[in-house]
Amino acid sequence: MNVPMTGQTMAAEPSFRHSVDMMFNHAVGLMDLPTGLKEKIRVCNATYTVRFGVRLRGQIQTFTGYRAIHSEHMEPVKGGIRYAMGVNQDEVEALAALMTYKCALVEAPFGGSKGGLRIDPRHYEEHELEAITRRFAYELIKRDLIHPSQNVPAPDMGTGEREMAWIADQYARIHTTDINARACVTGKPLNAGGIHGRVEATGRGVQYALREFFRHPEDMAAARLTGKLDGKRVIVQGLGNVGFHAAKFLSEEDGAKIVGVIEHDGGVIDPSGIDIESLRGWITDNGGVKDYPHAQVIPEGALLLEEECDILIPAALEGTINLGNAERIRAPLIIEAANGPITAGADEVLRRQGTVIIPDLYANAGGVTVSYFEWVKNLSHIRFGRMQRRQEEARHQLVVDELERIVETMGNGTTLSDSFKLKYLKGADELELVRSGLDDTMRVAYQSMSDLWHRRADVPDMRIAAYIVAIERVANGYRAKGL
Ligand code: GLU
Repeated sequence: MNVPMTGQTMAAEPSFRHSVDMMFNHAVGLMDLPTGLKEKIRVCNATYTVRFGVRLRGQIQTFTGYRAIHSEHMEPVKGGIRYAMGVNQDEVEALAALMTYKCALVEAPFGGSKGGLRIDPRHYEEHELEAITRRFAYELIKRDLIHPSQNVPAPDMGTGEREMAWIADQYARIHTTDINARACVTGKPLNAGGIHGRVEATGRGVQYALREFFRHPEDMAAARLTGKLDGKRVIVQGLGNVGFHAAKFLSEEDGAKIVGVIEHDGGVIDPSGIDIESLRGWITDNGGVKDYPHAQVIPEGALLLEEECDILIPAALEGTINLGNAERIRAPLIIEAANGPITAGADEVLRRQGTVIIPDLYANAGGVTVSYFEWVKNLSHIRFGRMQRRQEEARHQLVVDELERIVETMGNGTTLSDSFKLKYLKGADELELVRSGLDDTMRVAYQSMSDLWHRRADVPDMRIAAYIVAIERVANGYRAKGL
């Protein structure tokens, strides 16, 4: 009960896994499910711990890794592999549970899993990381804990395309005759069987989620917000893959103003809006925000969480909004781009304050949604759009030719604009199809969550609504299996 969470939390704070359990218990308390089934869904089915040695710099170093399988009501199970020093069994089990509910909510046909390796990747050279990753992958592959039809990892904090490519290659070396080998992991680079739009997917999902929120006047009213995303003041915590893409798309495409960014070594403030590409470039070159010349930099970045803004986007670690700071959070809307950034205790405080929270299991589901598309692409062995694209263009050309002919016979000088023709004639490529599929997924899932929230007086917020929608689907999965 008293295991401290990552970040600055108070002693009374429950552990991350316990926090997820508390949210789960709240939701199932409002559902009519047999007690035994509730318990079956809640528990983590299995957690495999591996300790392995790799010879590095002349001596053997021992590493500890995990793969937790939360629910196998659908297989394969799905979830990222995290490289961080804070990785432990409690954390991977909490994250695996979130994966179960996340996949159910966005109707990705997977159970939930998560892996982690306790390592600080910044302390190793690339070839060392490759040796460590391949060895970790080998340990998991030989137990079918990485497998196209049983357990499909993906990137998470501290890992990316490069690590996924090593894992895919390691699997292919062991399973030399498996024609579906590439589907053993998602988030791979394009040349190793990846899909367009996977790297940006989680940030893109956050953008689509916010756009959908601003199409729901009732939800906006609950957050005391009016208008559109345009001009809204946003504070982002963490400019990693998710935070960076969310901030970039929201500012470049929706007119939102990123007025604050929180990083590990400080915070950046600019009420007129921060140029996200420029800040990211600075962080990449200098290792942090210190001395960033184009905005005010403060050393105590966490204070920015408490600044006035319209939308707060925690996109870093779990537990960053906790009993120690929840009461001082002033944002009326929080979208959880990270997994578990708000503790169960802080969640209560914020609910009392009337803060609207778009919950993690929905808000960051863009990653696994596009992972699903990648897995399908790998199993079908063909790029999305390859068969239809030119045929679609040819049919559009027919329409444009006919329209032009009609317009000409009208003889009043009207013509079709070039920009219309350009947009209309272009057949959808893989990236457009992926974005369309992601947008649809985020909209439909939002609606299921928001509808339930407003339909049932006993459902206090979107998080509990999301859990109820997800748990109902998992329960149906178990029932269908005859459990
Ligand atoms: N690590 C991501 C998550 O937490 C993606 C998982 C996946 O694509 O399987 O959702």
